[in-house]
Amino acid sequence: MAMRLLTRGGQSDIQLLSRLCARAGSTVFSYRFQSTAVAAAHGDSAATAHGDPSFLESVDIYFDKAASLASTTPDILTQIKACNNILKVQFPLKCANGSVELIEAYRAQHSHHRLPVKGGIRMAPNVDADETMALAALMTFKCAVVDVPFGGAKGGIKIDPTKYSTNEKEAIIRRYTSELVKKNFIGPSIDVPAPDYGTGPQEMAWIKDTFEHLQPNDINGSACVTGKPLEEGGIMGRQEATGLGVFFCLREFLNDKASLGKMVIVQGFGNVGRHTIDSIHGAGGKIIAIAEANGGLVDESMEGLDIPALKAYHKKKGTITGFPGATTVKNSSGILELPCDVLIPAALESQIHSGNAANIKAKVVAEAANGPVTPLAETILEANNVVILPDLLLNAGGVTVSYFEWLKNLNHIHFGRMSRRMEERGKKVRKLSTACSYLLDTDGKGCNFRTAAYLIAIERIATCYRLSGIFP
Ligand code: NAD
Repeated sequence: MAMRLLTRGGQSDIQLLSRLCARAGSTVFSYRFQSTAVAAAHGDSAATAHGDPSFLESVDIYFDKAASLASTTPDILTQIKACNNILKVQFPLKCANGSVELIEAYRAQHSHHRLPVKGGIRMAPNVDADETMALAALMTFKCAVVDVPFGGAKGGIKIDPTKYSTNEKEAIIRRYTSELVKKNFIGPSIDVPAPDYGTGPQEMAWIKDTFEHLQPNDINGSACVTGKPLEEGGIMGRQEATGLGVFFCLREFLNDKASLGKMVIVQGFGNVGRHTIDSIHGAGGKIIAIAEANGGLVDESMEGLDIPALKAYHKKKGTITGFPGATTVKNSSGILELPCDVLIPAALESQIHSGNAANIKAKVVAEAANGPVTPLAETILEANNVVILPDLLLNAGGVTVSYFEWLKNLNHIHFGRMSRRMEERGKKVRKLSTACSYLLDTDGKGCNFRTAAYLIAIERIATCYRLSGIFP
């Protein structure tokens, strides 16, 4: 499928991307447009179309690889790998046009070795039980890597949020929350959701309000969810936290104060992508291309996009496409294959799969999204000497700051004005940088960073299971 150029008429996407590859001195230029066209679909379906394992199978494959190196006994490994609970609910929504629609939603609790369990709520059309369980498992391992004392969970509502009005979304979130309350799948000591793909502070505020209406005697009610607006018991920095964490880890890895003249490509201009871009740009990095679901931007000058101007444009237009300071391309998946130092997938899982991995020219792939690289793609990337910085560490900044929000709500105090910023930022940086150093120390010890991260998580969770014993 040929890609069409939207702006700077006269040249096709193919010509543009060819020129950029050539300018960057890339010898690989047999662009696989068939693969990129397929990749424009939802990540997991594009990957499975190429014979890659599903997202859930991928997480299991990564787990098994690390488990084979662990000193843990097989019975405990089986216990750690299994998803403990998966709840599916279906409920009616009265739509604005008077029709009634059945909404399908999930909550998976992967591991209860620490309580509460914790994990975001996603709103996307491809949500299903397997995706929710895969994401819940990643939460378990992620929390263990950064030593945040939560088990892993995840929620998903199978809708395209862009197709619903604010009132409809509010009704969906409130009904979903009430279903979770009825089934004992939410509460400050049980299961604490947060934002994820397609949700943000507003949805978290609705969850808190619904929970407090249904459980008025719970004095800790506001700690039933994190990622809330500041005025609703949220914490400074939660919105930026995941993207900032991606930046901190990248900086640590590059061990280079100027991570910073590096050329960076980002997929996804949502919460995580935008804040990652902000931090990298602020530190002097050059964002040379951004891929979004409805198209992408390429900076042909390679000097780096004007990020403040782009943010202002995005705020006004609600899209990055058509930004006058760059070239807009329609099919953005080809952007992942442009030459750069660092490629940051910050959208969805399985975006880099066996169909496009061989075309990736980045030296480092920094996984801001959950599960963006399939195991087959990982093998191909590593054969091409591409270093992968794994999601378990890279995007753990969000849950780390969520932990402090939860603590703040339980303490029923406001952090002091003077110390607030320093404390929140300082603790988070310490937690992430301890985890980073731990992981970087494993370099050269016979496994890649992902396996090392899984291994650290497995050993920590196993210790917990061993010491707790089995009830009854
Ligand atoms: P978001 O909804 O705020 O933004 C995602 C963006 O990706 C959207 O702008 C969407 O249009 C874009 N997108 C979707 N498909 C795309 C495609 N094929 N190509 C290019 N862009 C595409 O979501 P988010 O909160 O930024 O989450 C992104 C990823 O980060 C997810 O994998 C999520 O699980 C993970 N994550 C999020 C958080 C968090 O705090 N929000 C924390 C940890 C991990």
